[in-house]
Amino acid sequence: MTEGSALNEEVGSPALRELLAEIDTALADAEQAFGRAGDLAALEEARIAYLGKKGRLATLNQRFGQLAADEKPLAGKQLNARKAEIVRLDAERREQLERAEIERRLEAEAVDVTLPGAAVPTGRLHPIEQTRRQVEAIFRSMGFRVTESPEVETEWVNFEALNILSDHPARDMQDTFFTDRGKVLRTHTSGNQIRTMTELEPPLAIVSTGKVYRCDSDVTHSPMFYQMEGYLVDKAISMGHLKGVLESFIHALYGAKVGTRFRPSFFPFTEPSAELDMACVFCSGSGCRVCSQTGWLEVLGCGMIHPVVLRNCGIDPEVWSGFAFGLGLDRITMLKYGIDNIRLLYENDLRFLSQF
Ligand SMILES: [Zn+2]
Repeated sequence: MTEGSALNEEVGSPALRELLAEIDTALADAEQAFGRAGDLAALEEARIAYLGKKGRLATLNQRFGQLAADEKPLAGKQLNARKAEIVRLDAERREQLERAEIERRLEAEAVDVTLPGAAVPTGRLHPIEQTRRQVEAIFRSMGFRVTESPEVETEWVNFEALNILSDHPARDMQDTFFTDRGKVLRTHTSGNQIRTMTELEPPLAIVSTGKVYRCDSDVTHSPMFYQMEGYLVDKAISMGHLKGVLESFIHALYGAKVGTRFRPSFFPFTEPSAELDMACVFCSGSGCRVCSQTGWLEVLGCGMIHPVVLRNCGIDPEVWSGFAFGLGLDRITMLKYGIDNIRLLYENDLRFLSQF
């Protein structure tokens, strides 16, 4: 800024002196204009006003024509020096504004890590599915294998092969959903025994879970529900093995202190047959509404596989013997959580399901 005043006022023509003065004024004005520019857009506008093709310096350059030939180099040198200064001022201001912009943005976009997060609702497994996985895991730990079989089953697999003959009440139209050509919606998972035992050689230890269907619907019955079938076939298998396995299962599921008892029963596909009860988990055996004041809850049906069933699958009952059991996963789930209406399990009301 002071360099210009080094020029002696007496030097050169009035036109040269005037031009040199205006060049200095342009530098001073540019410095002010850049300083006033509050953001990058305003600075760009100011830059064009001074350095652009039609800017103030370009206009001054056009006035060189009025100068004497020997004055032009001096004016040109002065104009270039001031122009370089203006370019430097512009770059300096640009850097300041860019830094300020970054800081402003960092502040605006800052994340307060101390704020509590927004809760994301999570899904969960249906209570019956939770029970199924838990029950399968218990039997897997005892060496059982998990297999599946079809939900639409032949009458032979679902009934005849299991020693449920044509006059048995289970085969009544009232109880079974018949499809067509000798097929039914399976009424129990016991058909899995037939499927597996006709395909595989003993020894076998299998559990199989899945949906079963019956024409039945009230607070404790649903037309579709979940069962688990389990069986073990080997040499010299006795009721002792059956009791040991099932007691271990109940203790794994409900705790080691839960009492159990076996009662004689009847099923066409087992001989002898039994039902397993456990001490009521709601009243610890003293009697309540859930256990009908008996102190006991029915958990499952079981027994030694009937020799006829083994023979139907091509297994020699003189060599092999086995036990089988079937249980309702719905019932196990209801007992586990104290649910008294089976429909709650199938209505898929989230207010109910989210409690598990
Ligand atoms: Zn009870």
